[in-house]
Amino acid sequence: MRNLCILLILTFFAIFSCKRMERPSRPVVKKPTYKKEKFKEPELKVLLKEGKGPFHISATSKYMLITKSKKYSLKAGDFLKCEYISFNQVALNYAGKKFVFKTPFIFESKQGYVILNNRRYRGRILFDKGEKVINLVRMESYLLSVVPPEIGGVRPSLIEAAKAQAVCARSYALRKYLERKDNLFHLYADVKDQVYLGRDFENPWASVAVEATKGEILMYRNEVVLTMYHSTCGGRTADFREAFPAMPYIPYLRSVKCNVRGKDLCSVSPYYKWERKYPRSVFINMLKRNISRIMGINLNSKDIKSFRISRRSKNGRVFEAMVRLGKGNQVFKGNEIRHIFSDARGALPSTWFNLIQRGSDIIIKGKGFGHGVGMCQYGARELSKMGWNYEKIVKFYYPGTKIKKIYN
Ligand SMILES: [Zn+2]
Repeated sequence: MRNLCILLILTFFAIFSCKRMERPSRPVVKKPTYKKEKFKEPELKVLLKEGKGPFHISATSKYMLITKSKKYSLKAGDFLKCEYISFNQVALNYAGKKFVFKTPFIFESKQGYVILNNRRYRGRILFDKGEKVINLVRMESYLLSVVPPEIGGVRPSLIEAAKAQAVCARSYALRKYLERKDNLFHLYADVKDQVYLGRDFENPWASVAVEATKGEILMYRNEVVLTMYHSTCGGRTADFREAFPAMPYIPYLRSVKCNVRGKDLCSVSPYYKWERKYPRSVFINMLKRNISRIMGINLNSKDIKSFRISRRSKNGRVFEAMVRLGKGNQVFKGNEIRHIFSDARGALPSTWFNLIQRGSDIIIKGKGFGHGVGMCQYGARELSKMGWNYEKIVKFYYPGTKIKKIYN
């Protein structure tokens, strides 16, 4: 398909004079290493909730409330309503009475699980300053609930893909743990890092994959690999800087063909090919709404004069898109481009797309789902079905890396 430039001819002059706006800066990529001889399974701090609350606490067995100076015993049926009343104070409602506790304090159940807002969690629950509710959980326990939603329905033929996912999720979490060692927490429990939903979302097959790879991470020389992954690449993964142009070059996050014997591995994915169609006015309105949000300004539909794909990467992804706004141009790069096309379904599935004008409609035809960097999860599932082991799968998507067991 050829590149198509779409000119939106509008009748009014813009009232907005375009300035290049600052967008949130991206974090610098550190290269965390580890000291093998001293390394033990880490206890992660996973942010579960943030805000005043209320948060409802109970447990499946007897449990403890532990403060700096005291321990309080509670029974399985004891329910507590916890609400932050200041930066480091929480009001606890128990059996109709109100108590005020200073953070930090912990809920722990040695025989069972602590329940937070109807979800069971392994490990302990920490209430900390700044209205944060954090799960203190060992790495291997954390992974039991991270692997299932990431790799989808696990069955015997997909076990090697689940093991590959376990190694990736462990490496990612370890890298964040090392990078954010001095922070209040190491990981978010959602797509900002990895989705973690607690004990109720574990699955026996994924647990087998986690146990079989215990302590194994992916290394590149002495660096813990930044194991980025995504749903569907569309036939070829993206270079790291194709998706995130402001970031440094990372040799193992380079584009690879997701193809074996002439067949694209992720061609079974519902997002291998996709299409979105809009009447022109809806398309313009979508651009106006999203660009206003991203730039933090108030645009009018008439401010958007034209939109065009100004640069493609060598692999065919849209690398740069230019929007002419009144007197100035606004350039969007890499993965950010997906967000100027956000609609009720979310961001555009990928940056691998073409724009087609047909009558008064604008059609976006594309391939893949996600940023495209690192392991393609649909591709990994296909390789697993073909009999590849997890080591071969991760080396395929992260060239030049190797698996290391860093604790038992
Ligand atoms: Zn793929």
